Amino acid sequence: MIGNDIMSMYPDELSEFVGTLGEKPYRAGQLFSWMAKGTPIDEMSNLSKAFREKLKESADYRLPKIEDKLVSKIDGTVKYLMSLEDGECVESVFMHYDHGTSLCVSSQAGCAMGCKFCASTLRGRVRNLTASEILGQAACASYDTGERVDGIVMMGIGEPLDNYDNVIRFLRLVSDERGMGIGLRHISLSTCGLVPRIYDLAKEGLPVTLSVSLHASDDETRDALMPINRKYKIAELLEACRNYFEETGRRVSFEYTLISGKNDSVEAADRLAAVLKRGMRAPCHVNLIMLNEVAETGLNAPDRRRAQDFATRLQKNGVNATIRRRLGSDINASCGQLRLKKLQEQG
Ligand code: SAH
Repeated sequence: MIGNDIMSMYPDELSEFVGTLGEKPYRAGQLFSWMAKGTPIDEMSNLSKAFREKLKESADYRLPKIEDKLVSKIDGTVKYLMSLEDGECVESVFMHYDHGTSLCVSSQAGCAMGCKFCASTLRGRVRNLTASEILGQAACASYDTGERVDGIVMMGIGEPLDNYDNVIRFLRLVSDERGMGIGLRHISLSTCGLVPRIYDLAKEGLPVTLSVSLHASDDETRDALMPINRKYKIAELLEACRNYFEETGRRVSFEYTLISGKNDSVEAADRLAAVLKRGMRAPCHVNLIMLNEVAETGLNAPDRRRAQDFATRLQKNGVNATIRRRLGSDINASCGQLRLKKLQEQG
């Protein structure tokens, strides 16, 4: 339901909406581009005062509100806790890389997927975010930092493919040249593996980078870590990834969080290489992530050396693998933990 949620509207829908307020269609373009910058209505200087008043009365302009903001002294990473219209909170992380800035956004308040190592899912899923609430995180971060967001990673709270329609709308909006204009090639979508939705996404004509959270090389281990695997097995998942590559020409990347004693042995690395070769038969990349320890899960990260051994073993087996650099380590920048802390404080 879009209703009067103007930030969820495509430009043609917005034209129609401004028409109902008695404004010319080109005003929609101006409004669209202001919203993409996170500009408050009163600061939309090329819109008449009368139009701005009408907007305040009849439109629902849902910009998230910054509740908390942590800035890393090490690398300038900014972590936001943002609140939405109904008081639900989500997290977004603004990162600086050599090749530009990137924002990690949330797609749901909470998550229903139940992965055993993850903070975001501990209290379940409360609700899906609207397209405007996802876009709003980017607009807000850009307004707050005064910097352009060059790329987006959908790796915050929530399972994007479990909120499919709103996420697709968000992708179309955020990549629209008349607004933020972030190239689809600079957008990554991370999923725990909702197989039918991966096939759907391949057909949308939105060539984003697909990142798949694998975290295991055999079904038994993956069943235990990620309940989604009880529904869609590794072989089926890889088949969907291969199809994604064939349809979009985009290389798929895999995330593999190393968890001490669960999935970090060299045998697991060998098996992972074999499974990927057999299943993908296409170029892919493995991002190794050191587990971010969440007290409630009782799981631990391996030491650095073991992680390095795992990476080396994959490379020896011909798999392209890197250990992900951690940004914002002093502000605990991985997602789900700030929201969880706030929920715990609320009791
Ligand atoms: N639901 C999506 C995106 C959100 S999580 C998905 O599952 O891909 C982004 C990545 O962080 C996923 O690979 C997820 O498995 C991983 N992750 C979650 N909790 C983590 C933790 N405590 N330490 C390291 N990685 C974690």
